[in-house]
Amino acid sequence: MTLAIPFSAHYAALPDRFHAKLDPTPVAEPRLIRVNQRLARELGIDPTTLESPDGVAMLAGNLVPEGATPLAQAYAGHQFGGWNPQLGDGRAILLGELCHTDGRLRDVQLKGSGRTPFSRMGDGRAWLGPVMREYILSEAMHALGVPTTRALAAVTTGEKVLREAPFPGAVFTRVAASHLRVGTFQYFAARNDIDALAALVQFAIARHDPEADGALGLLKGVIARQADLIARWMGMGFIHGVMNTDNMTISGETIDYGPCAFMEAYDPNTVYSSIDQYGRYAYANQPEIAVWNLAQLATALLPVIDPDQDTAIEVATEAVQGFAELYEAAWLRTFRAKLGLTSEEKGDGTLIMGYLKLMADAGTDYTLAFRALGEGPDVARQMWADPAPFDAWASDWATRLKTEGTTPTDRSSALKAANPAFIPRNHRVEEAIQHGLSGDYAPFHRLVSVLERPFEDQPDHEDLMAPAQAHEAVRQTFCGT
Ligand code: AMP
Ligand code: MG
Repeated sequence: MTLAIPFSAHYAALPDRFHAKLDPTPVAEPRLIRVNQRLARELGIDPTTLESPDGVAMLAGNLVPEGATPLAQAYAGHQFGGWNPQLGDGRAILLGELCHTDGRLRDVQLKGSGRTPFSRMGDGRAWLGPVMREYILSEAMHALGVPTTRALAAVTTGEKVLREAPFPGAVFTRVAASHLRVGTFQYFAARNDIDALAALVQFAIARHDPEADGALGLLKGVIARQADLIARWMGMGFIHGVMNTDNMTISGETIDYGPCAFMEAYDPNTVYSSIDQYGRYAYANQPEIAVWNLAQLATALLPVIDPDQDTAIEVATEAVQGFAELYEAAWLRTFRAKLGLTSEEKGDGTLIMGYLKLMADAGTDYTLAFRALGEGPDVARQMWADPAPFDAWASDWATRLKTEGTTPTDRSSALKAANPAFIPRNHRVEEAIQHGLSGDYAPFHRLVSVLERPFEDQPDHEDLMAPAQAHEAVRQTFCGT
């Protein structure tokens, strides 16, 4: 074996009940779709190594590099509010950790790499569609400034995966600050395994919160990161779609791009996921669901927060209640920037809500309505079939901007830096997948490249800015297992 990638095995060193050690299941004919060259370099890997036959074999699960200790992680979770005591990596295998140029560790995980002891009824595989989706969406989120797991590579397997029909199989390589989830803590709490909980807390603190003082400090860290994350999702019009506790990270990164989608016409009740029948994970519900999930984390941590359970409950409850204030501040920070405001004034919330109301009433495209503000009020005005409500709002906005003391040019650049021109529009993602299915990856590569610079005007790619026409609209997204 010639592939030398300096994986460490910190998670593998945790006790046996944290994981199942096993190799990925080899596939028939690995073929590379794309390597994220820049991310590879940041992880200290020469991209050409990953593009070599041995590299592609590793990305497909056919070759385990020296030093890697592949494993599937154990976790549990609440799915749509219902408790499931055992989930775990049913189709993912952690190869190990690598040191990023920022000095911190990253997990490198193959997704779609075969069955594991946690597969239950699943086949352990992924098909090309969801793999391309996760690549596009997660890299777009990163470029949009939203904490997220990353895409290192995507390969096809030369095998078919049976879903509603047979589809080409694929393996996705995910990079994450860690794969610790709320559900990882729940797994051990439900088993009353206090030693494991304590070990997990230590592991999480070392990885994510070196300054934190014990389990309560960790909980507060997670709450702060999630408050910031959800506010950023809201700012970008992102709807996760499956905010189950096994899909909420301790790191504060967005994880598990299943039926997620970016909202087009603004409507706070938007739901895309086909399995979210009651709208539990609708756009506007996301902060509340985050609190629900964090309360589950707090509950799981109680035994290691304080030996006196009354005290533990008191301090943990207080921490969870702190989310509201953190979220409110993060939301205001996010949306002030979207209106070009750098100072803080009391009426800012009302001004922001006023613009959102205009969009809700007119069903305006969320992304373009904000982007237009950076083009000046005259261009923004053209967004509206009936400009009268906009004019009334814009006059309040102009009054507020006078208190800022910024020049129109500075303001325009600030607005453009906060409001993307490009998001991964659902119909474009679908289009890229459809072409990929017939072996043409050009639309996929184009979309990924354009979305690397979402805040820049890219006149050659203006077609990718446009919302879906009625006949192109994607009204439902699917879990993608
Ligand atoms: P997800 O919807 O990706 O968050 O997955 C929920 C759970 O189902 C996790 O435990 C996954 O590992 C498992 N799972 C999803 N798809 C498959 C599959 N094709 N084979 C085995 N397990 C799967
Ligand atoms: Mg998941």
